[in-house]
Amino acid sequence: MNIRDSIRTIPDFPKPGIQFRDVTTLFGDAQAFRIAIDQLLHPYAGARIDKVAALEARGFIMGGAIAHQLSVGFVPIRKAGKLPGPRTSESYTLEYGEATMELHDGALQPGERVLLVDDLIATGGTCEAGIKLIRRSGATVIGSSFIIDLPALGGRQRIEKLDVPVHVLCEFEGD
Ligand code: AMP
Repeated sequence: MNIRDSIRTIPDFPKPGIQFRDVTTLFGDAQAFRIAIDQLLHPYAGARIDKVAALEARGFIMGGAIAHQLSVGFVPIRKAGKLPGPRTSESYTLEYGEATMELHDGALQPGERVLLVDDLIATGGTCEAGIKLIRRSGATVIGSSFIIDLPALGGRQRIEKLDVPVHVLCEFEGD
């Protein structure tokens, strides 16, 4: 089965001109979901992974399943204002304006090896903020996994320049 076929495209969401790649149809398909989780982990078989970190919000759905599969802890990286405890913030630039991601202090220990996951990499800005937060805690990002890459937006190269391997399951043209 090709998991790309289980992803739905919604034109003009959340604003005109955006082709929204909707992975809820993949999550709702038992076979596609299981295959996607296995494939996201495939390059890291045998590697030591201490924690799985994921980016809000769809990344949490995959990150929880991956952490369960590896029997390791799960760490959420959330949008500003959602985490209740002491936290560290990292802001980054969007096409219009700014966004901020946050990580709980103490969620990761220095030296821990972390796999970072999200549903989709576009410009790579969200992922870069996640990498910076993980590194500020003293942990190492051993790799990143995404269901979808939008190669036209260059996110993959941006993350590889930070010395983080990028693994994607499929690509879609355009932005
Ligand atoms: P970026 O920071 O530009 O790499 O954007 C990645 C984040 O925005 C991910 O958390 C995605 O879920 C979301 N995203 C960006 N573009 C799309 C798209 N075309 N369809 C669905 N989600 C998107």
